[in-house]
Amino acid sequence: METIFLSPPHMGGTEETYIQKAFDTNWIAPLGANVDQFEHKMKHYTNAANVLALNSGTAAIHLALVTLGVTTGDSVFCSTLTFAASANPISYVSAKPVFIDSDERSWNMCPIALEQAFKDAAAQNKLPKAVIVVHILGLVADMEKIQAICAKYNVPIIEDAAESLGSTYKGQMTGTFGEMGIYSFNGNKIITTSGGGMLVSKSAKTREQAFHLATQAKEDAAYYLHEKIGYNYRLSNVLAGIGIGQMEVLDQHVAKRQAIFERYSIAFSDIQGMSMMPILPDTRPNCWLSAVRIDSNEFEIATSDLVRILASHHIEARMMWYPLHAQPSFKETICYQAGTENFSERLFREVLCLPSGSAMTQTQQEYVIHTLLSSLNKERMGKYATN
Ligand SMILES: *Cc1c(COP(=O)(O)O)cnc(C)c1O
Repeated sequence: METIFLSPPHMGGTEETYIQKAFDTNWIAPLGANVDQFEHKMKHYTNAANVLALNSGTAAIHLALVTLGVTTGDSVFCSTLTFAASANPISYVSAKPVFIDSDERSWNMCPIALEQAFKDAAAQNKLPKAVIVVHILGLVADMEKIQAICAKYNVPIIEDAAESLGSTYKGQMTGTFGEMGIYSFNGNKIITTSGGGMLVSKSAKTREQAFHLATQAKEDAAYYLHEKIGYNYRLSNVLAGIGIGQMEVLDQHVAKRQAIFERYSIAFSDIQGMSMMPILPDTRPNCWLSAVRIDSNEFEIATSDLVRILASHHIEARMMWYPLHAQPSFKETICYQAGTENFSERLFREVLCLPSGSAMTQTQQEYVIHTLLSSLNKERMGKYATN
């Protein structure tokens, strides 16, 4: 039996045409017409003021921090419930992350915890250089409140929209609220170039600086002159060809994933102890991954066991990220939270990410639903039997 993957690549069909174009024109080596066209399409789709195609989303976050001048000894606030790549670049520039908990309404950065972190930082006269706000699973963070707080302290926002391309808040694309935003086209994302990313910025000057740094910081001189340390971060023209093709099916992918979310929601709607990820008012998530929360008061089974059981039935499910403040790689960092309980740690324990790929068939999804429910049912019966 074929494995049903969590979020596999899904080609639309025209990608190879654009790759072929790169070959036909012999524009294999970096940059070229595909990169320009991919940037143009992304700019049009997101309505971002400036876009820059890069070879990963991680590189985009790194360049965002570098262009903001974040350096040794600085601090950067960052969501704690996210993939490590959101915060690793903070370490690349020798700054220190301060993590912010999630809230129950959005599963994303908690505005109350953020405000508290700012108050403490202001009292110590050490404001962060930036705030990295992540839109996990394609869910939209509470941008209005977060923006108001950051504006009060005059600290720029970097939006990590790696997973949320196509998600909107009051009709505006995630990634375009902050001073800068980033997208990822890694293999598991809603569209992919096999590997790639995009930096978007409000300021044209920022784009120019990031472009310079991404192309080895070569100065405009007759010889190889460098005034700064540069990086080799641009997207290849061949891979940008995949991106152009994927842009043609992006809306379809979003619609497919939203429909998948709807079907899971309906299937689990009247089961006590199961609840789907929350959707904030005024937001329209792309539903990159559908995740369900399994209340540990109702079911004794651990999400790690469910992952194992589903795998034995050829279904790839995943646990929620292990919060970054708890990671060995980020030891001795702190995490601000609103109440007595760290909510990201609860989500880590209770949330299961389910297959959500845009190529998944309805029959496959029904099989996933059936397998999960029967695993949980056995668990519930077992619990009552032992009580
Ligand atoms: C995938 C991802 C990244 C990193 O993107 P890459 O293109 O893989 O470097 C960053 N942040 C989040 C939240 C992601 O999911």
